[in-house]
Amino acid sequence: MNAGVVIGVLALQGDVREHLYALAEADVVARPIRRPEELIGLDGLVIPGGESTTMSKLAIEFGLLVPIQSMIADGLPVYGSCAGMIMLSTEVLDGRPDQRSFGGIDMTVRRNAFGRQVDSFEAAVTLNGVDGGAFHAVFIRAPWVERVGESVEVLGRVEEGEGAGRIVAVRQRNLLATAFHPELTGDLRVHRYFVDMVRCGRDKGARDKGARDKGARDKGARETVKG
Ligand code: GLN
Repeated sequence: MNAGVVIGVLALQGDVREHLYALAEADVVARPIRRPEELIGLDGLVIPGGESTTMSKLAIEFGLLVPIQSMIADGLPVYGSCAGMIMLSTEVLDGRPDQRSFGGIDMTVRRNAFGRQVDSFEAAVTLNGVDGGAFHAVFIRAPWVERVGESVEVLGRVEEGEGAGRIVAVRQRNLLATAFHPELTGDLRVHRYFVDMVRCGRDKGARDKGARDKGARDKGARETVKG
């Protein structure tokens, strides 16, 4: 059904394997990405959960920050969970001063927002546009979204407990982010939603992809030289 769709998982750090597995279950070709040249030919990219400060540092070291920023600007569909949500935000609160993000979603997120002592919790979250009832959402030292720009669609909020009402799922055009980890629960609905976004992006034609790939080649090569 998703013949030929290739989705990368940024494999610098975090729960890479779980996303690769979920994507394979959602019937697409999934592959780990560690180098700029591996970005070429992708129809979509997943930024996993993990630790955004470490991911930021490694993305810079591996020459991936600028190529991914540029591919996002050129319309690459990207989904980020938890640390991945932080990496897709334009503004991070409670981050490290040297922390960088790929950006793309006009929003402000707060790291470890649900309280430092609360390492993890579970709560119901219903996502707009996703059938089948509320998600049993798993949060691990998760961010929440404190501000969204006009072009950002809020897809879901925490429905119960102390964090009730907090925004934890958003979409802006080609970009999707959740503060929780669907890759850990075996509920494939978010991955399938993302695969649909990727398929719609592909249907728009190969021209965009050609431009993105060129961006990855040029910027990746330049960054690698810079060292
Ligand atoms: N607290 C982590 C960060 O700031 C995110 C945690 C997660 O991805 N589970 O990056």
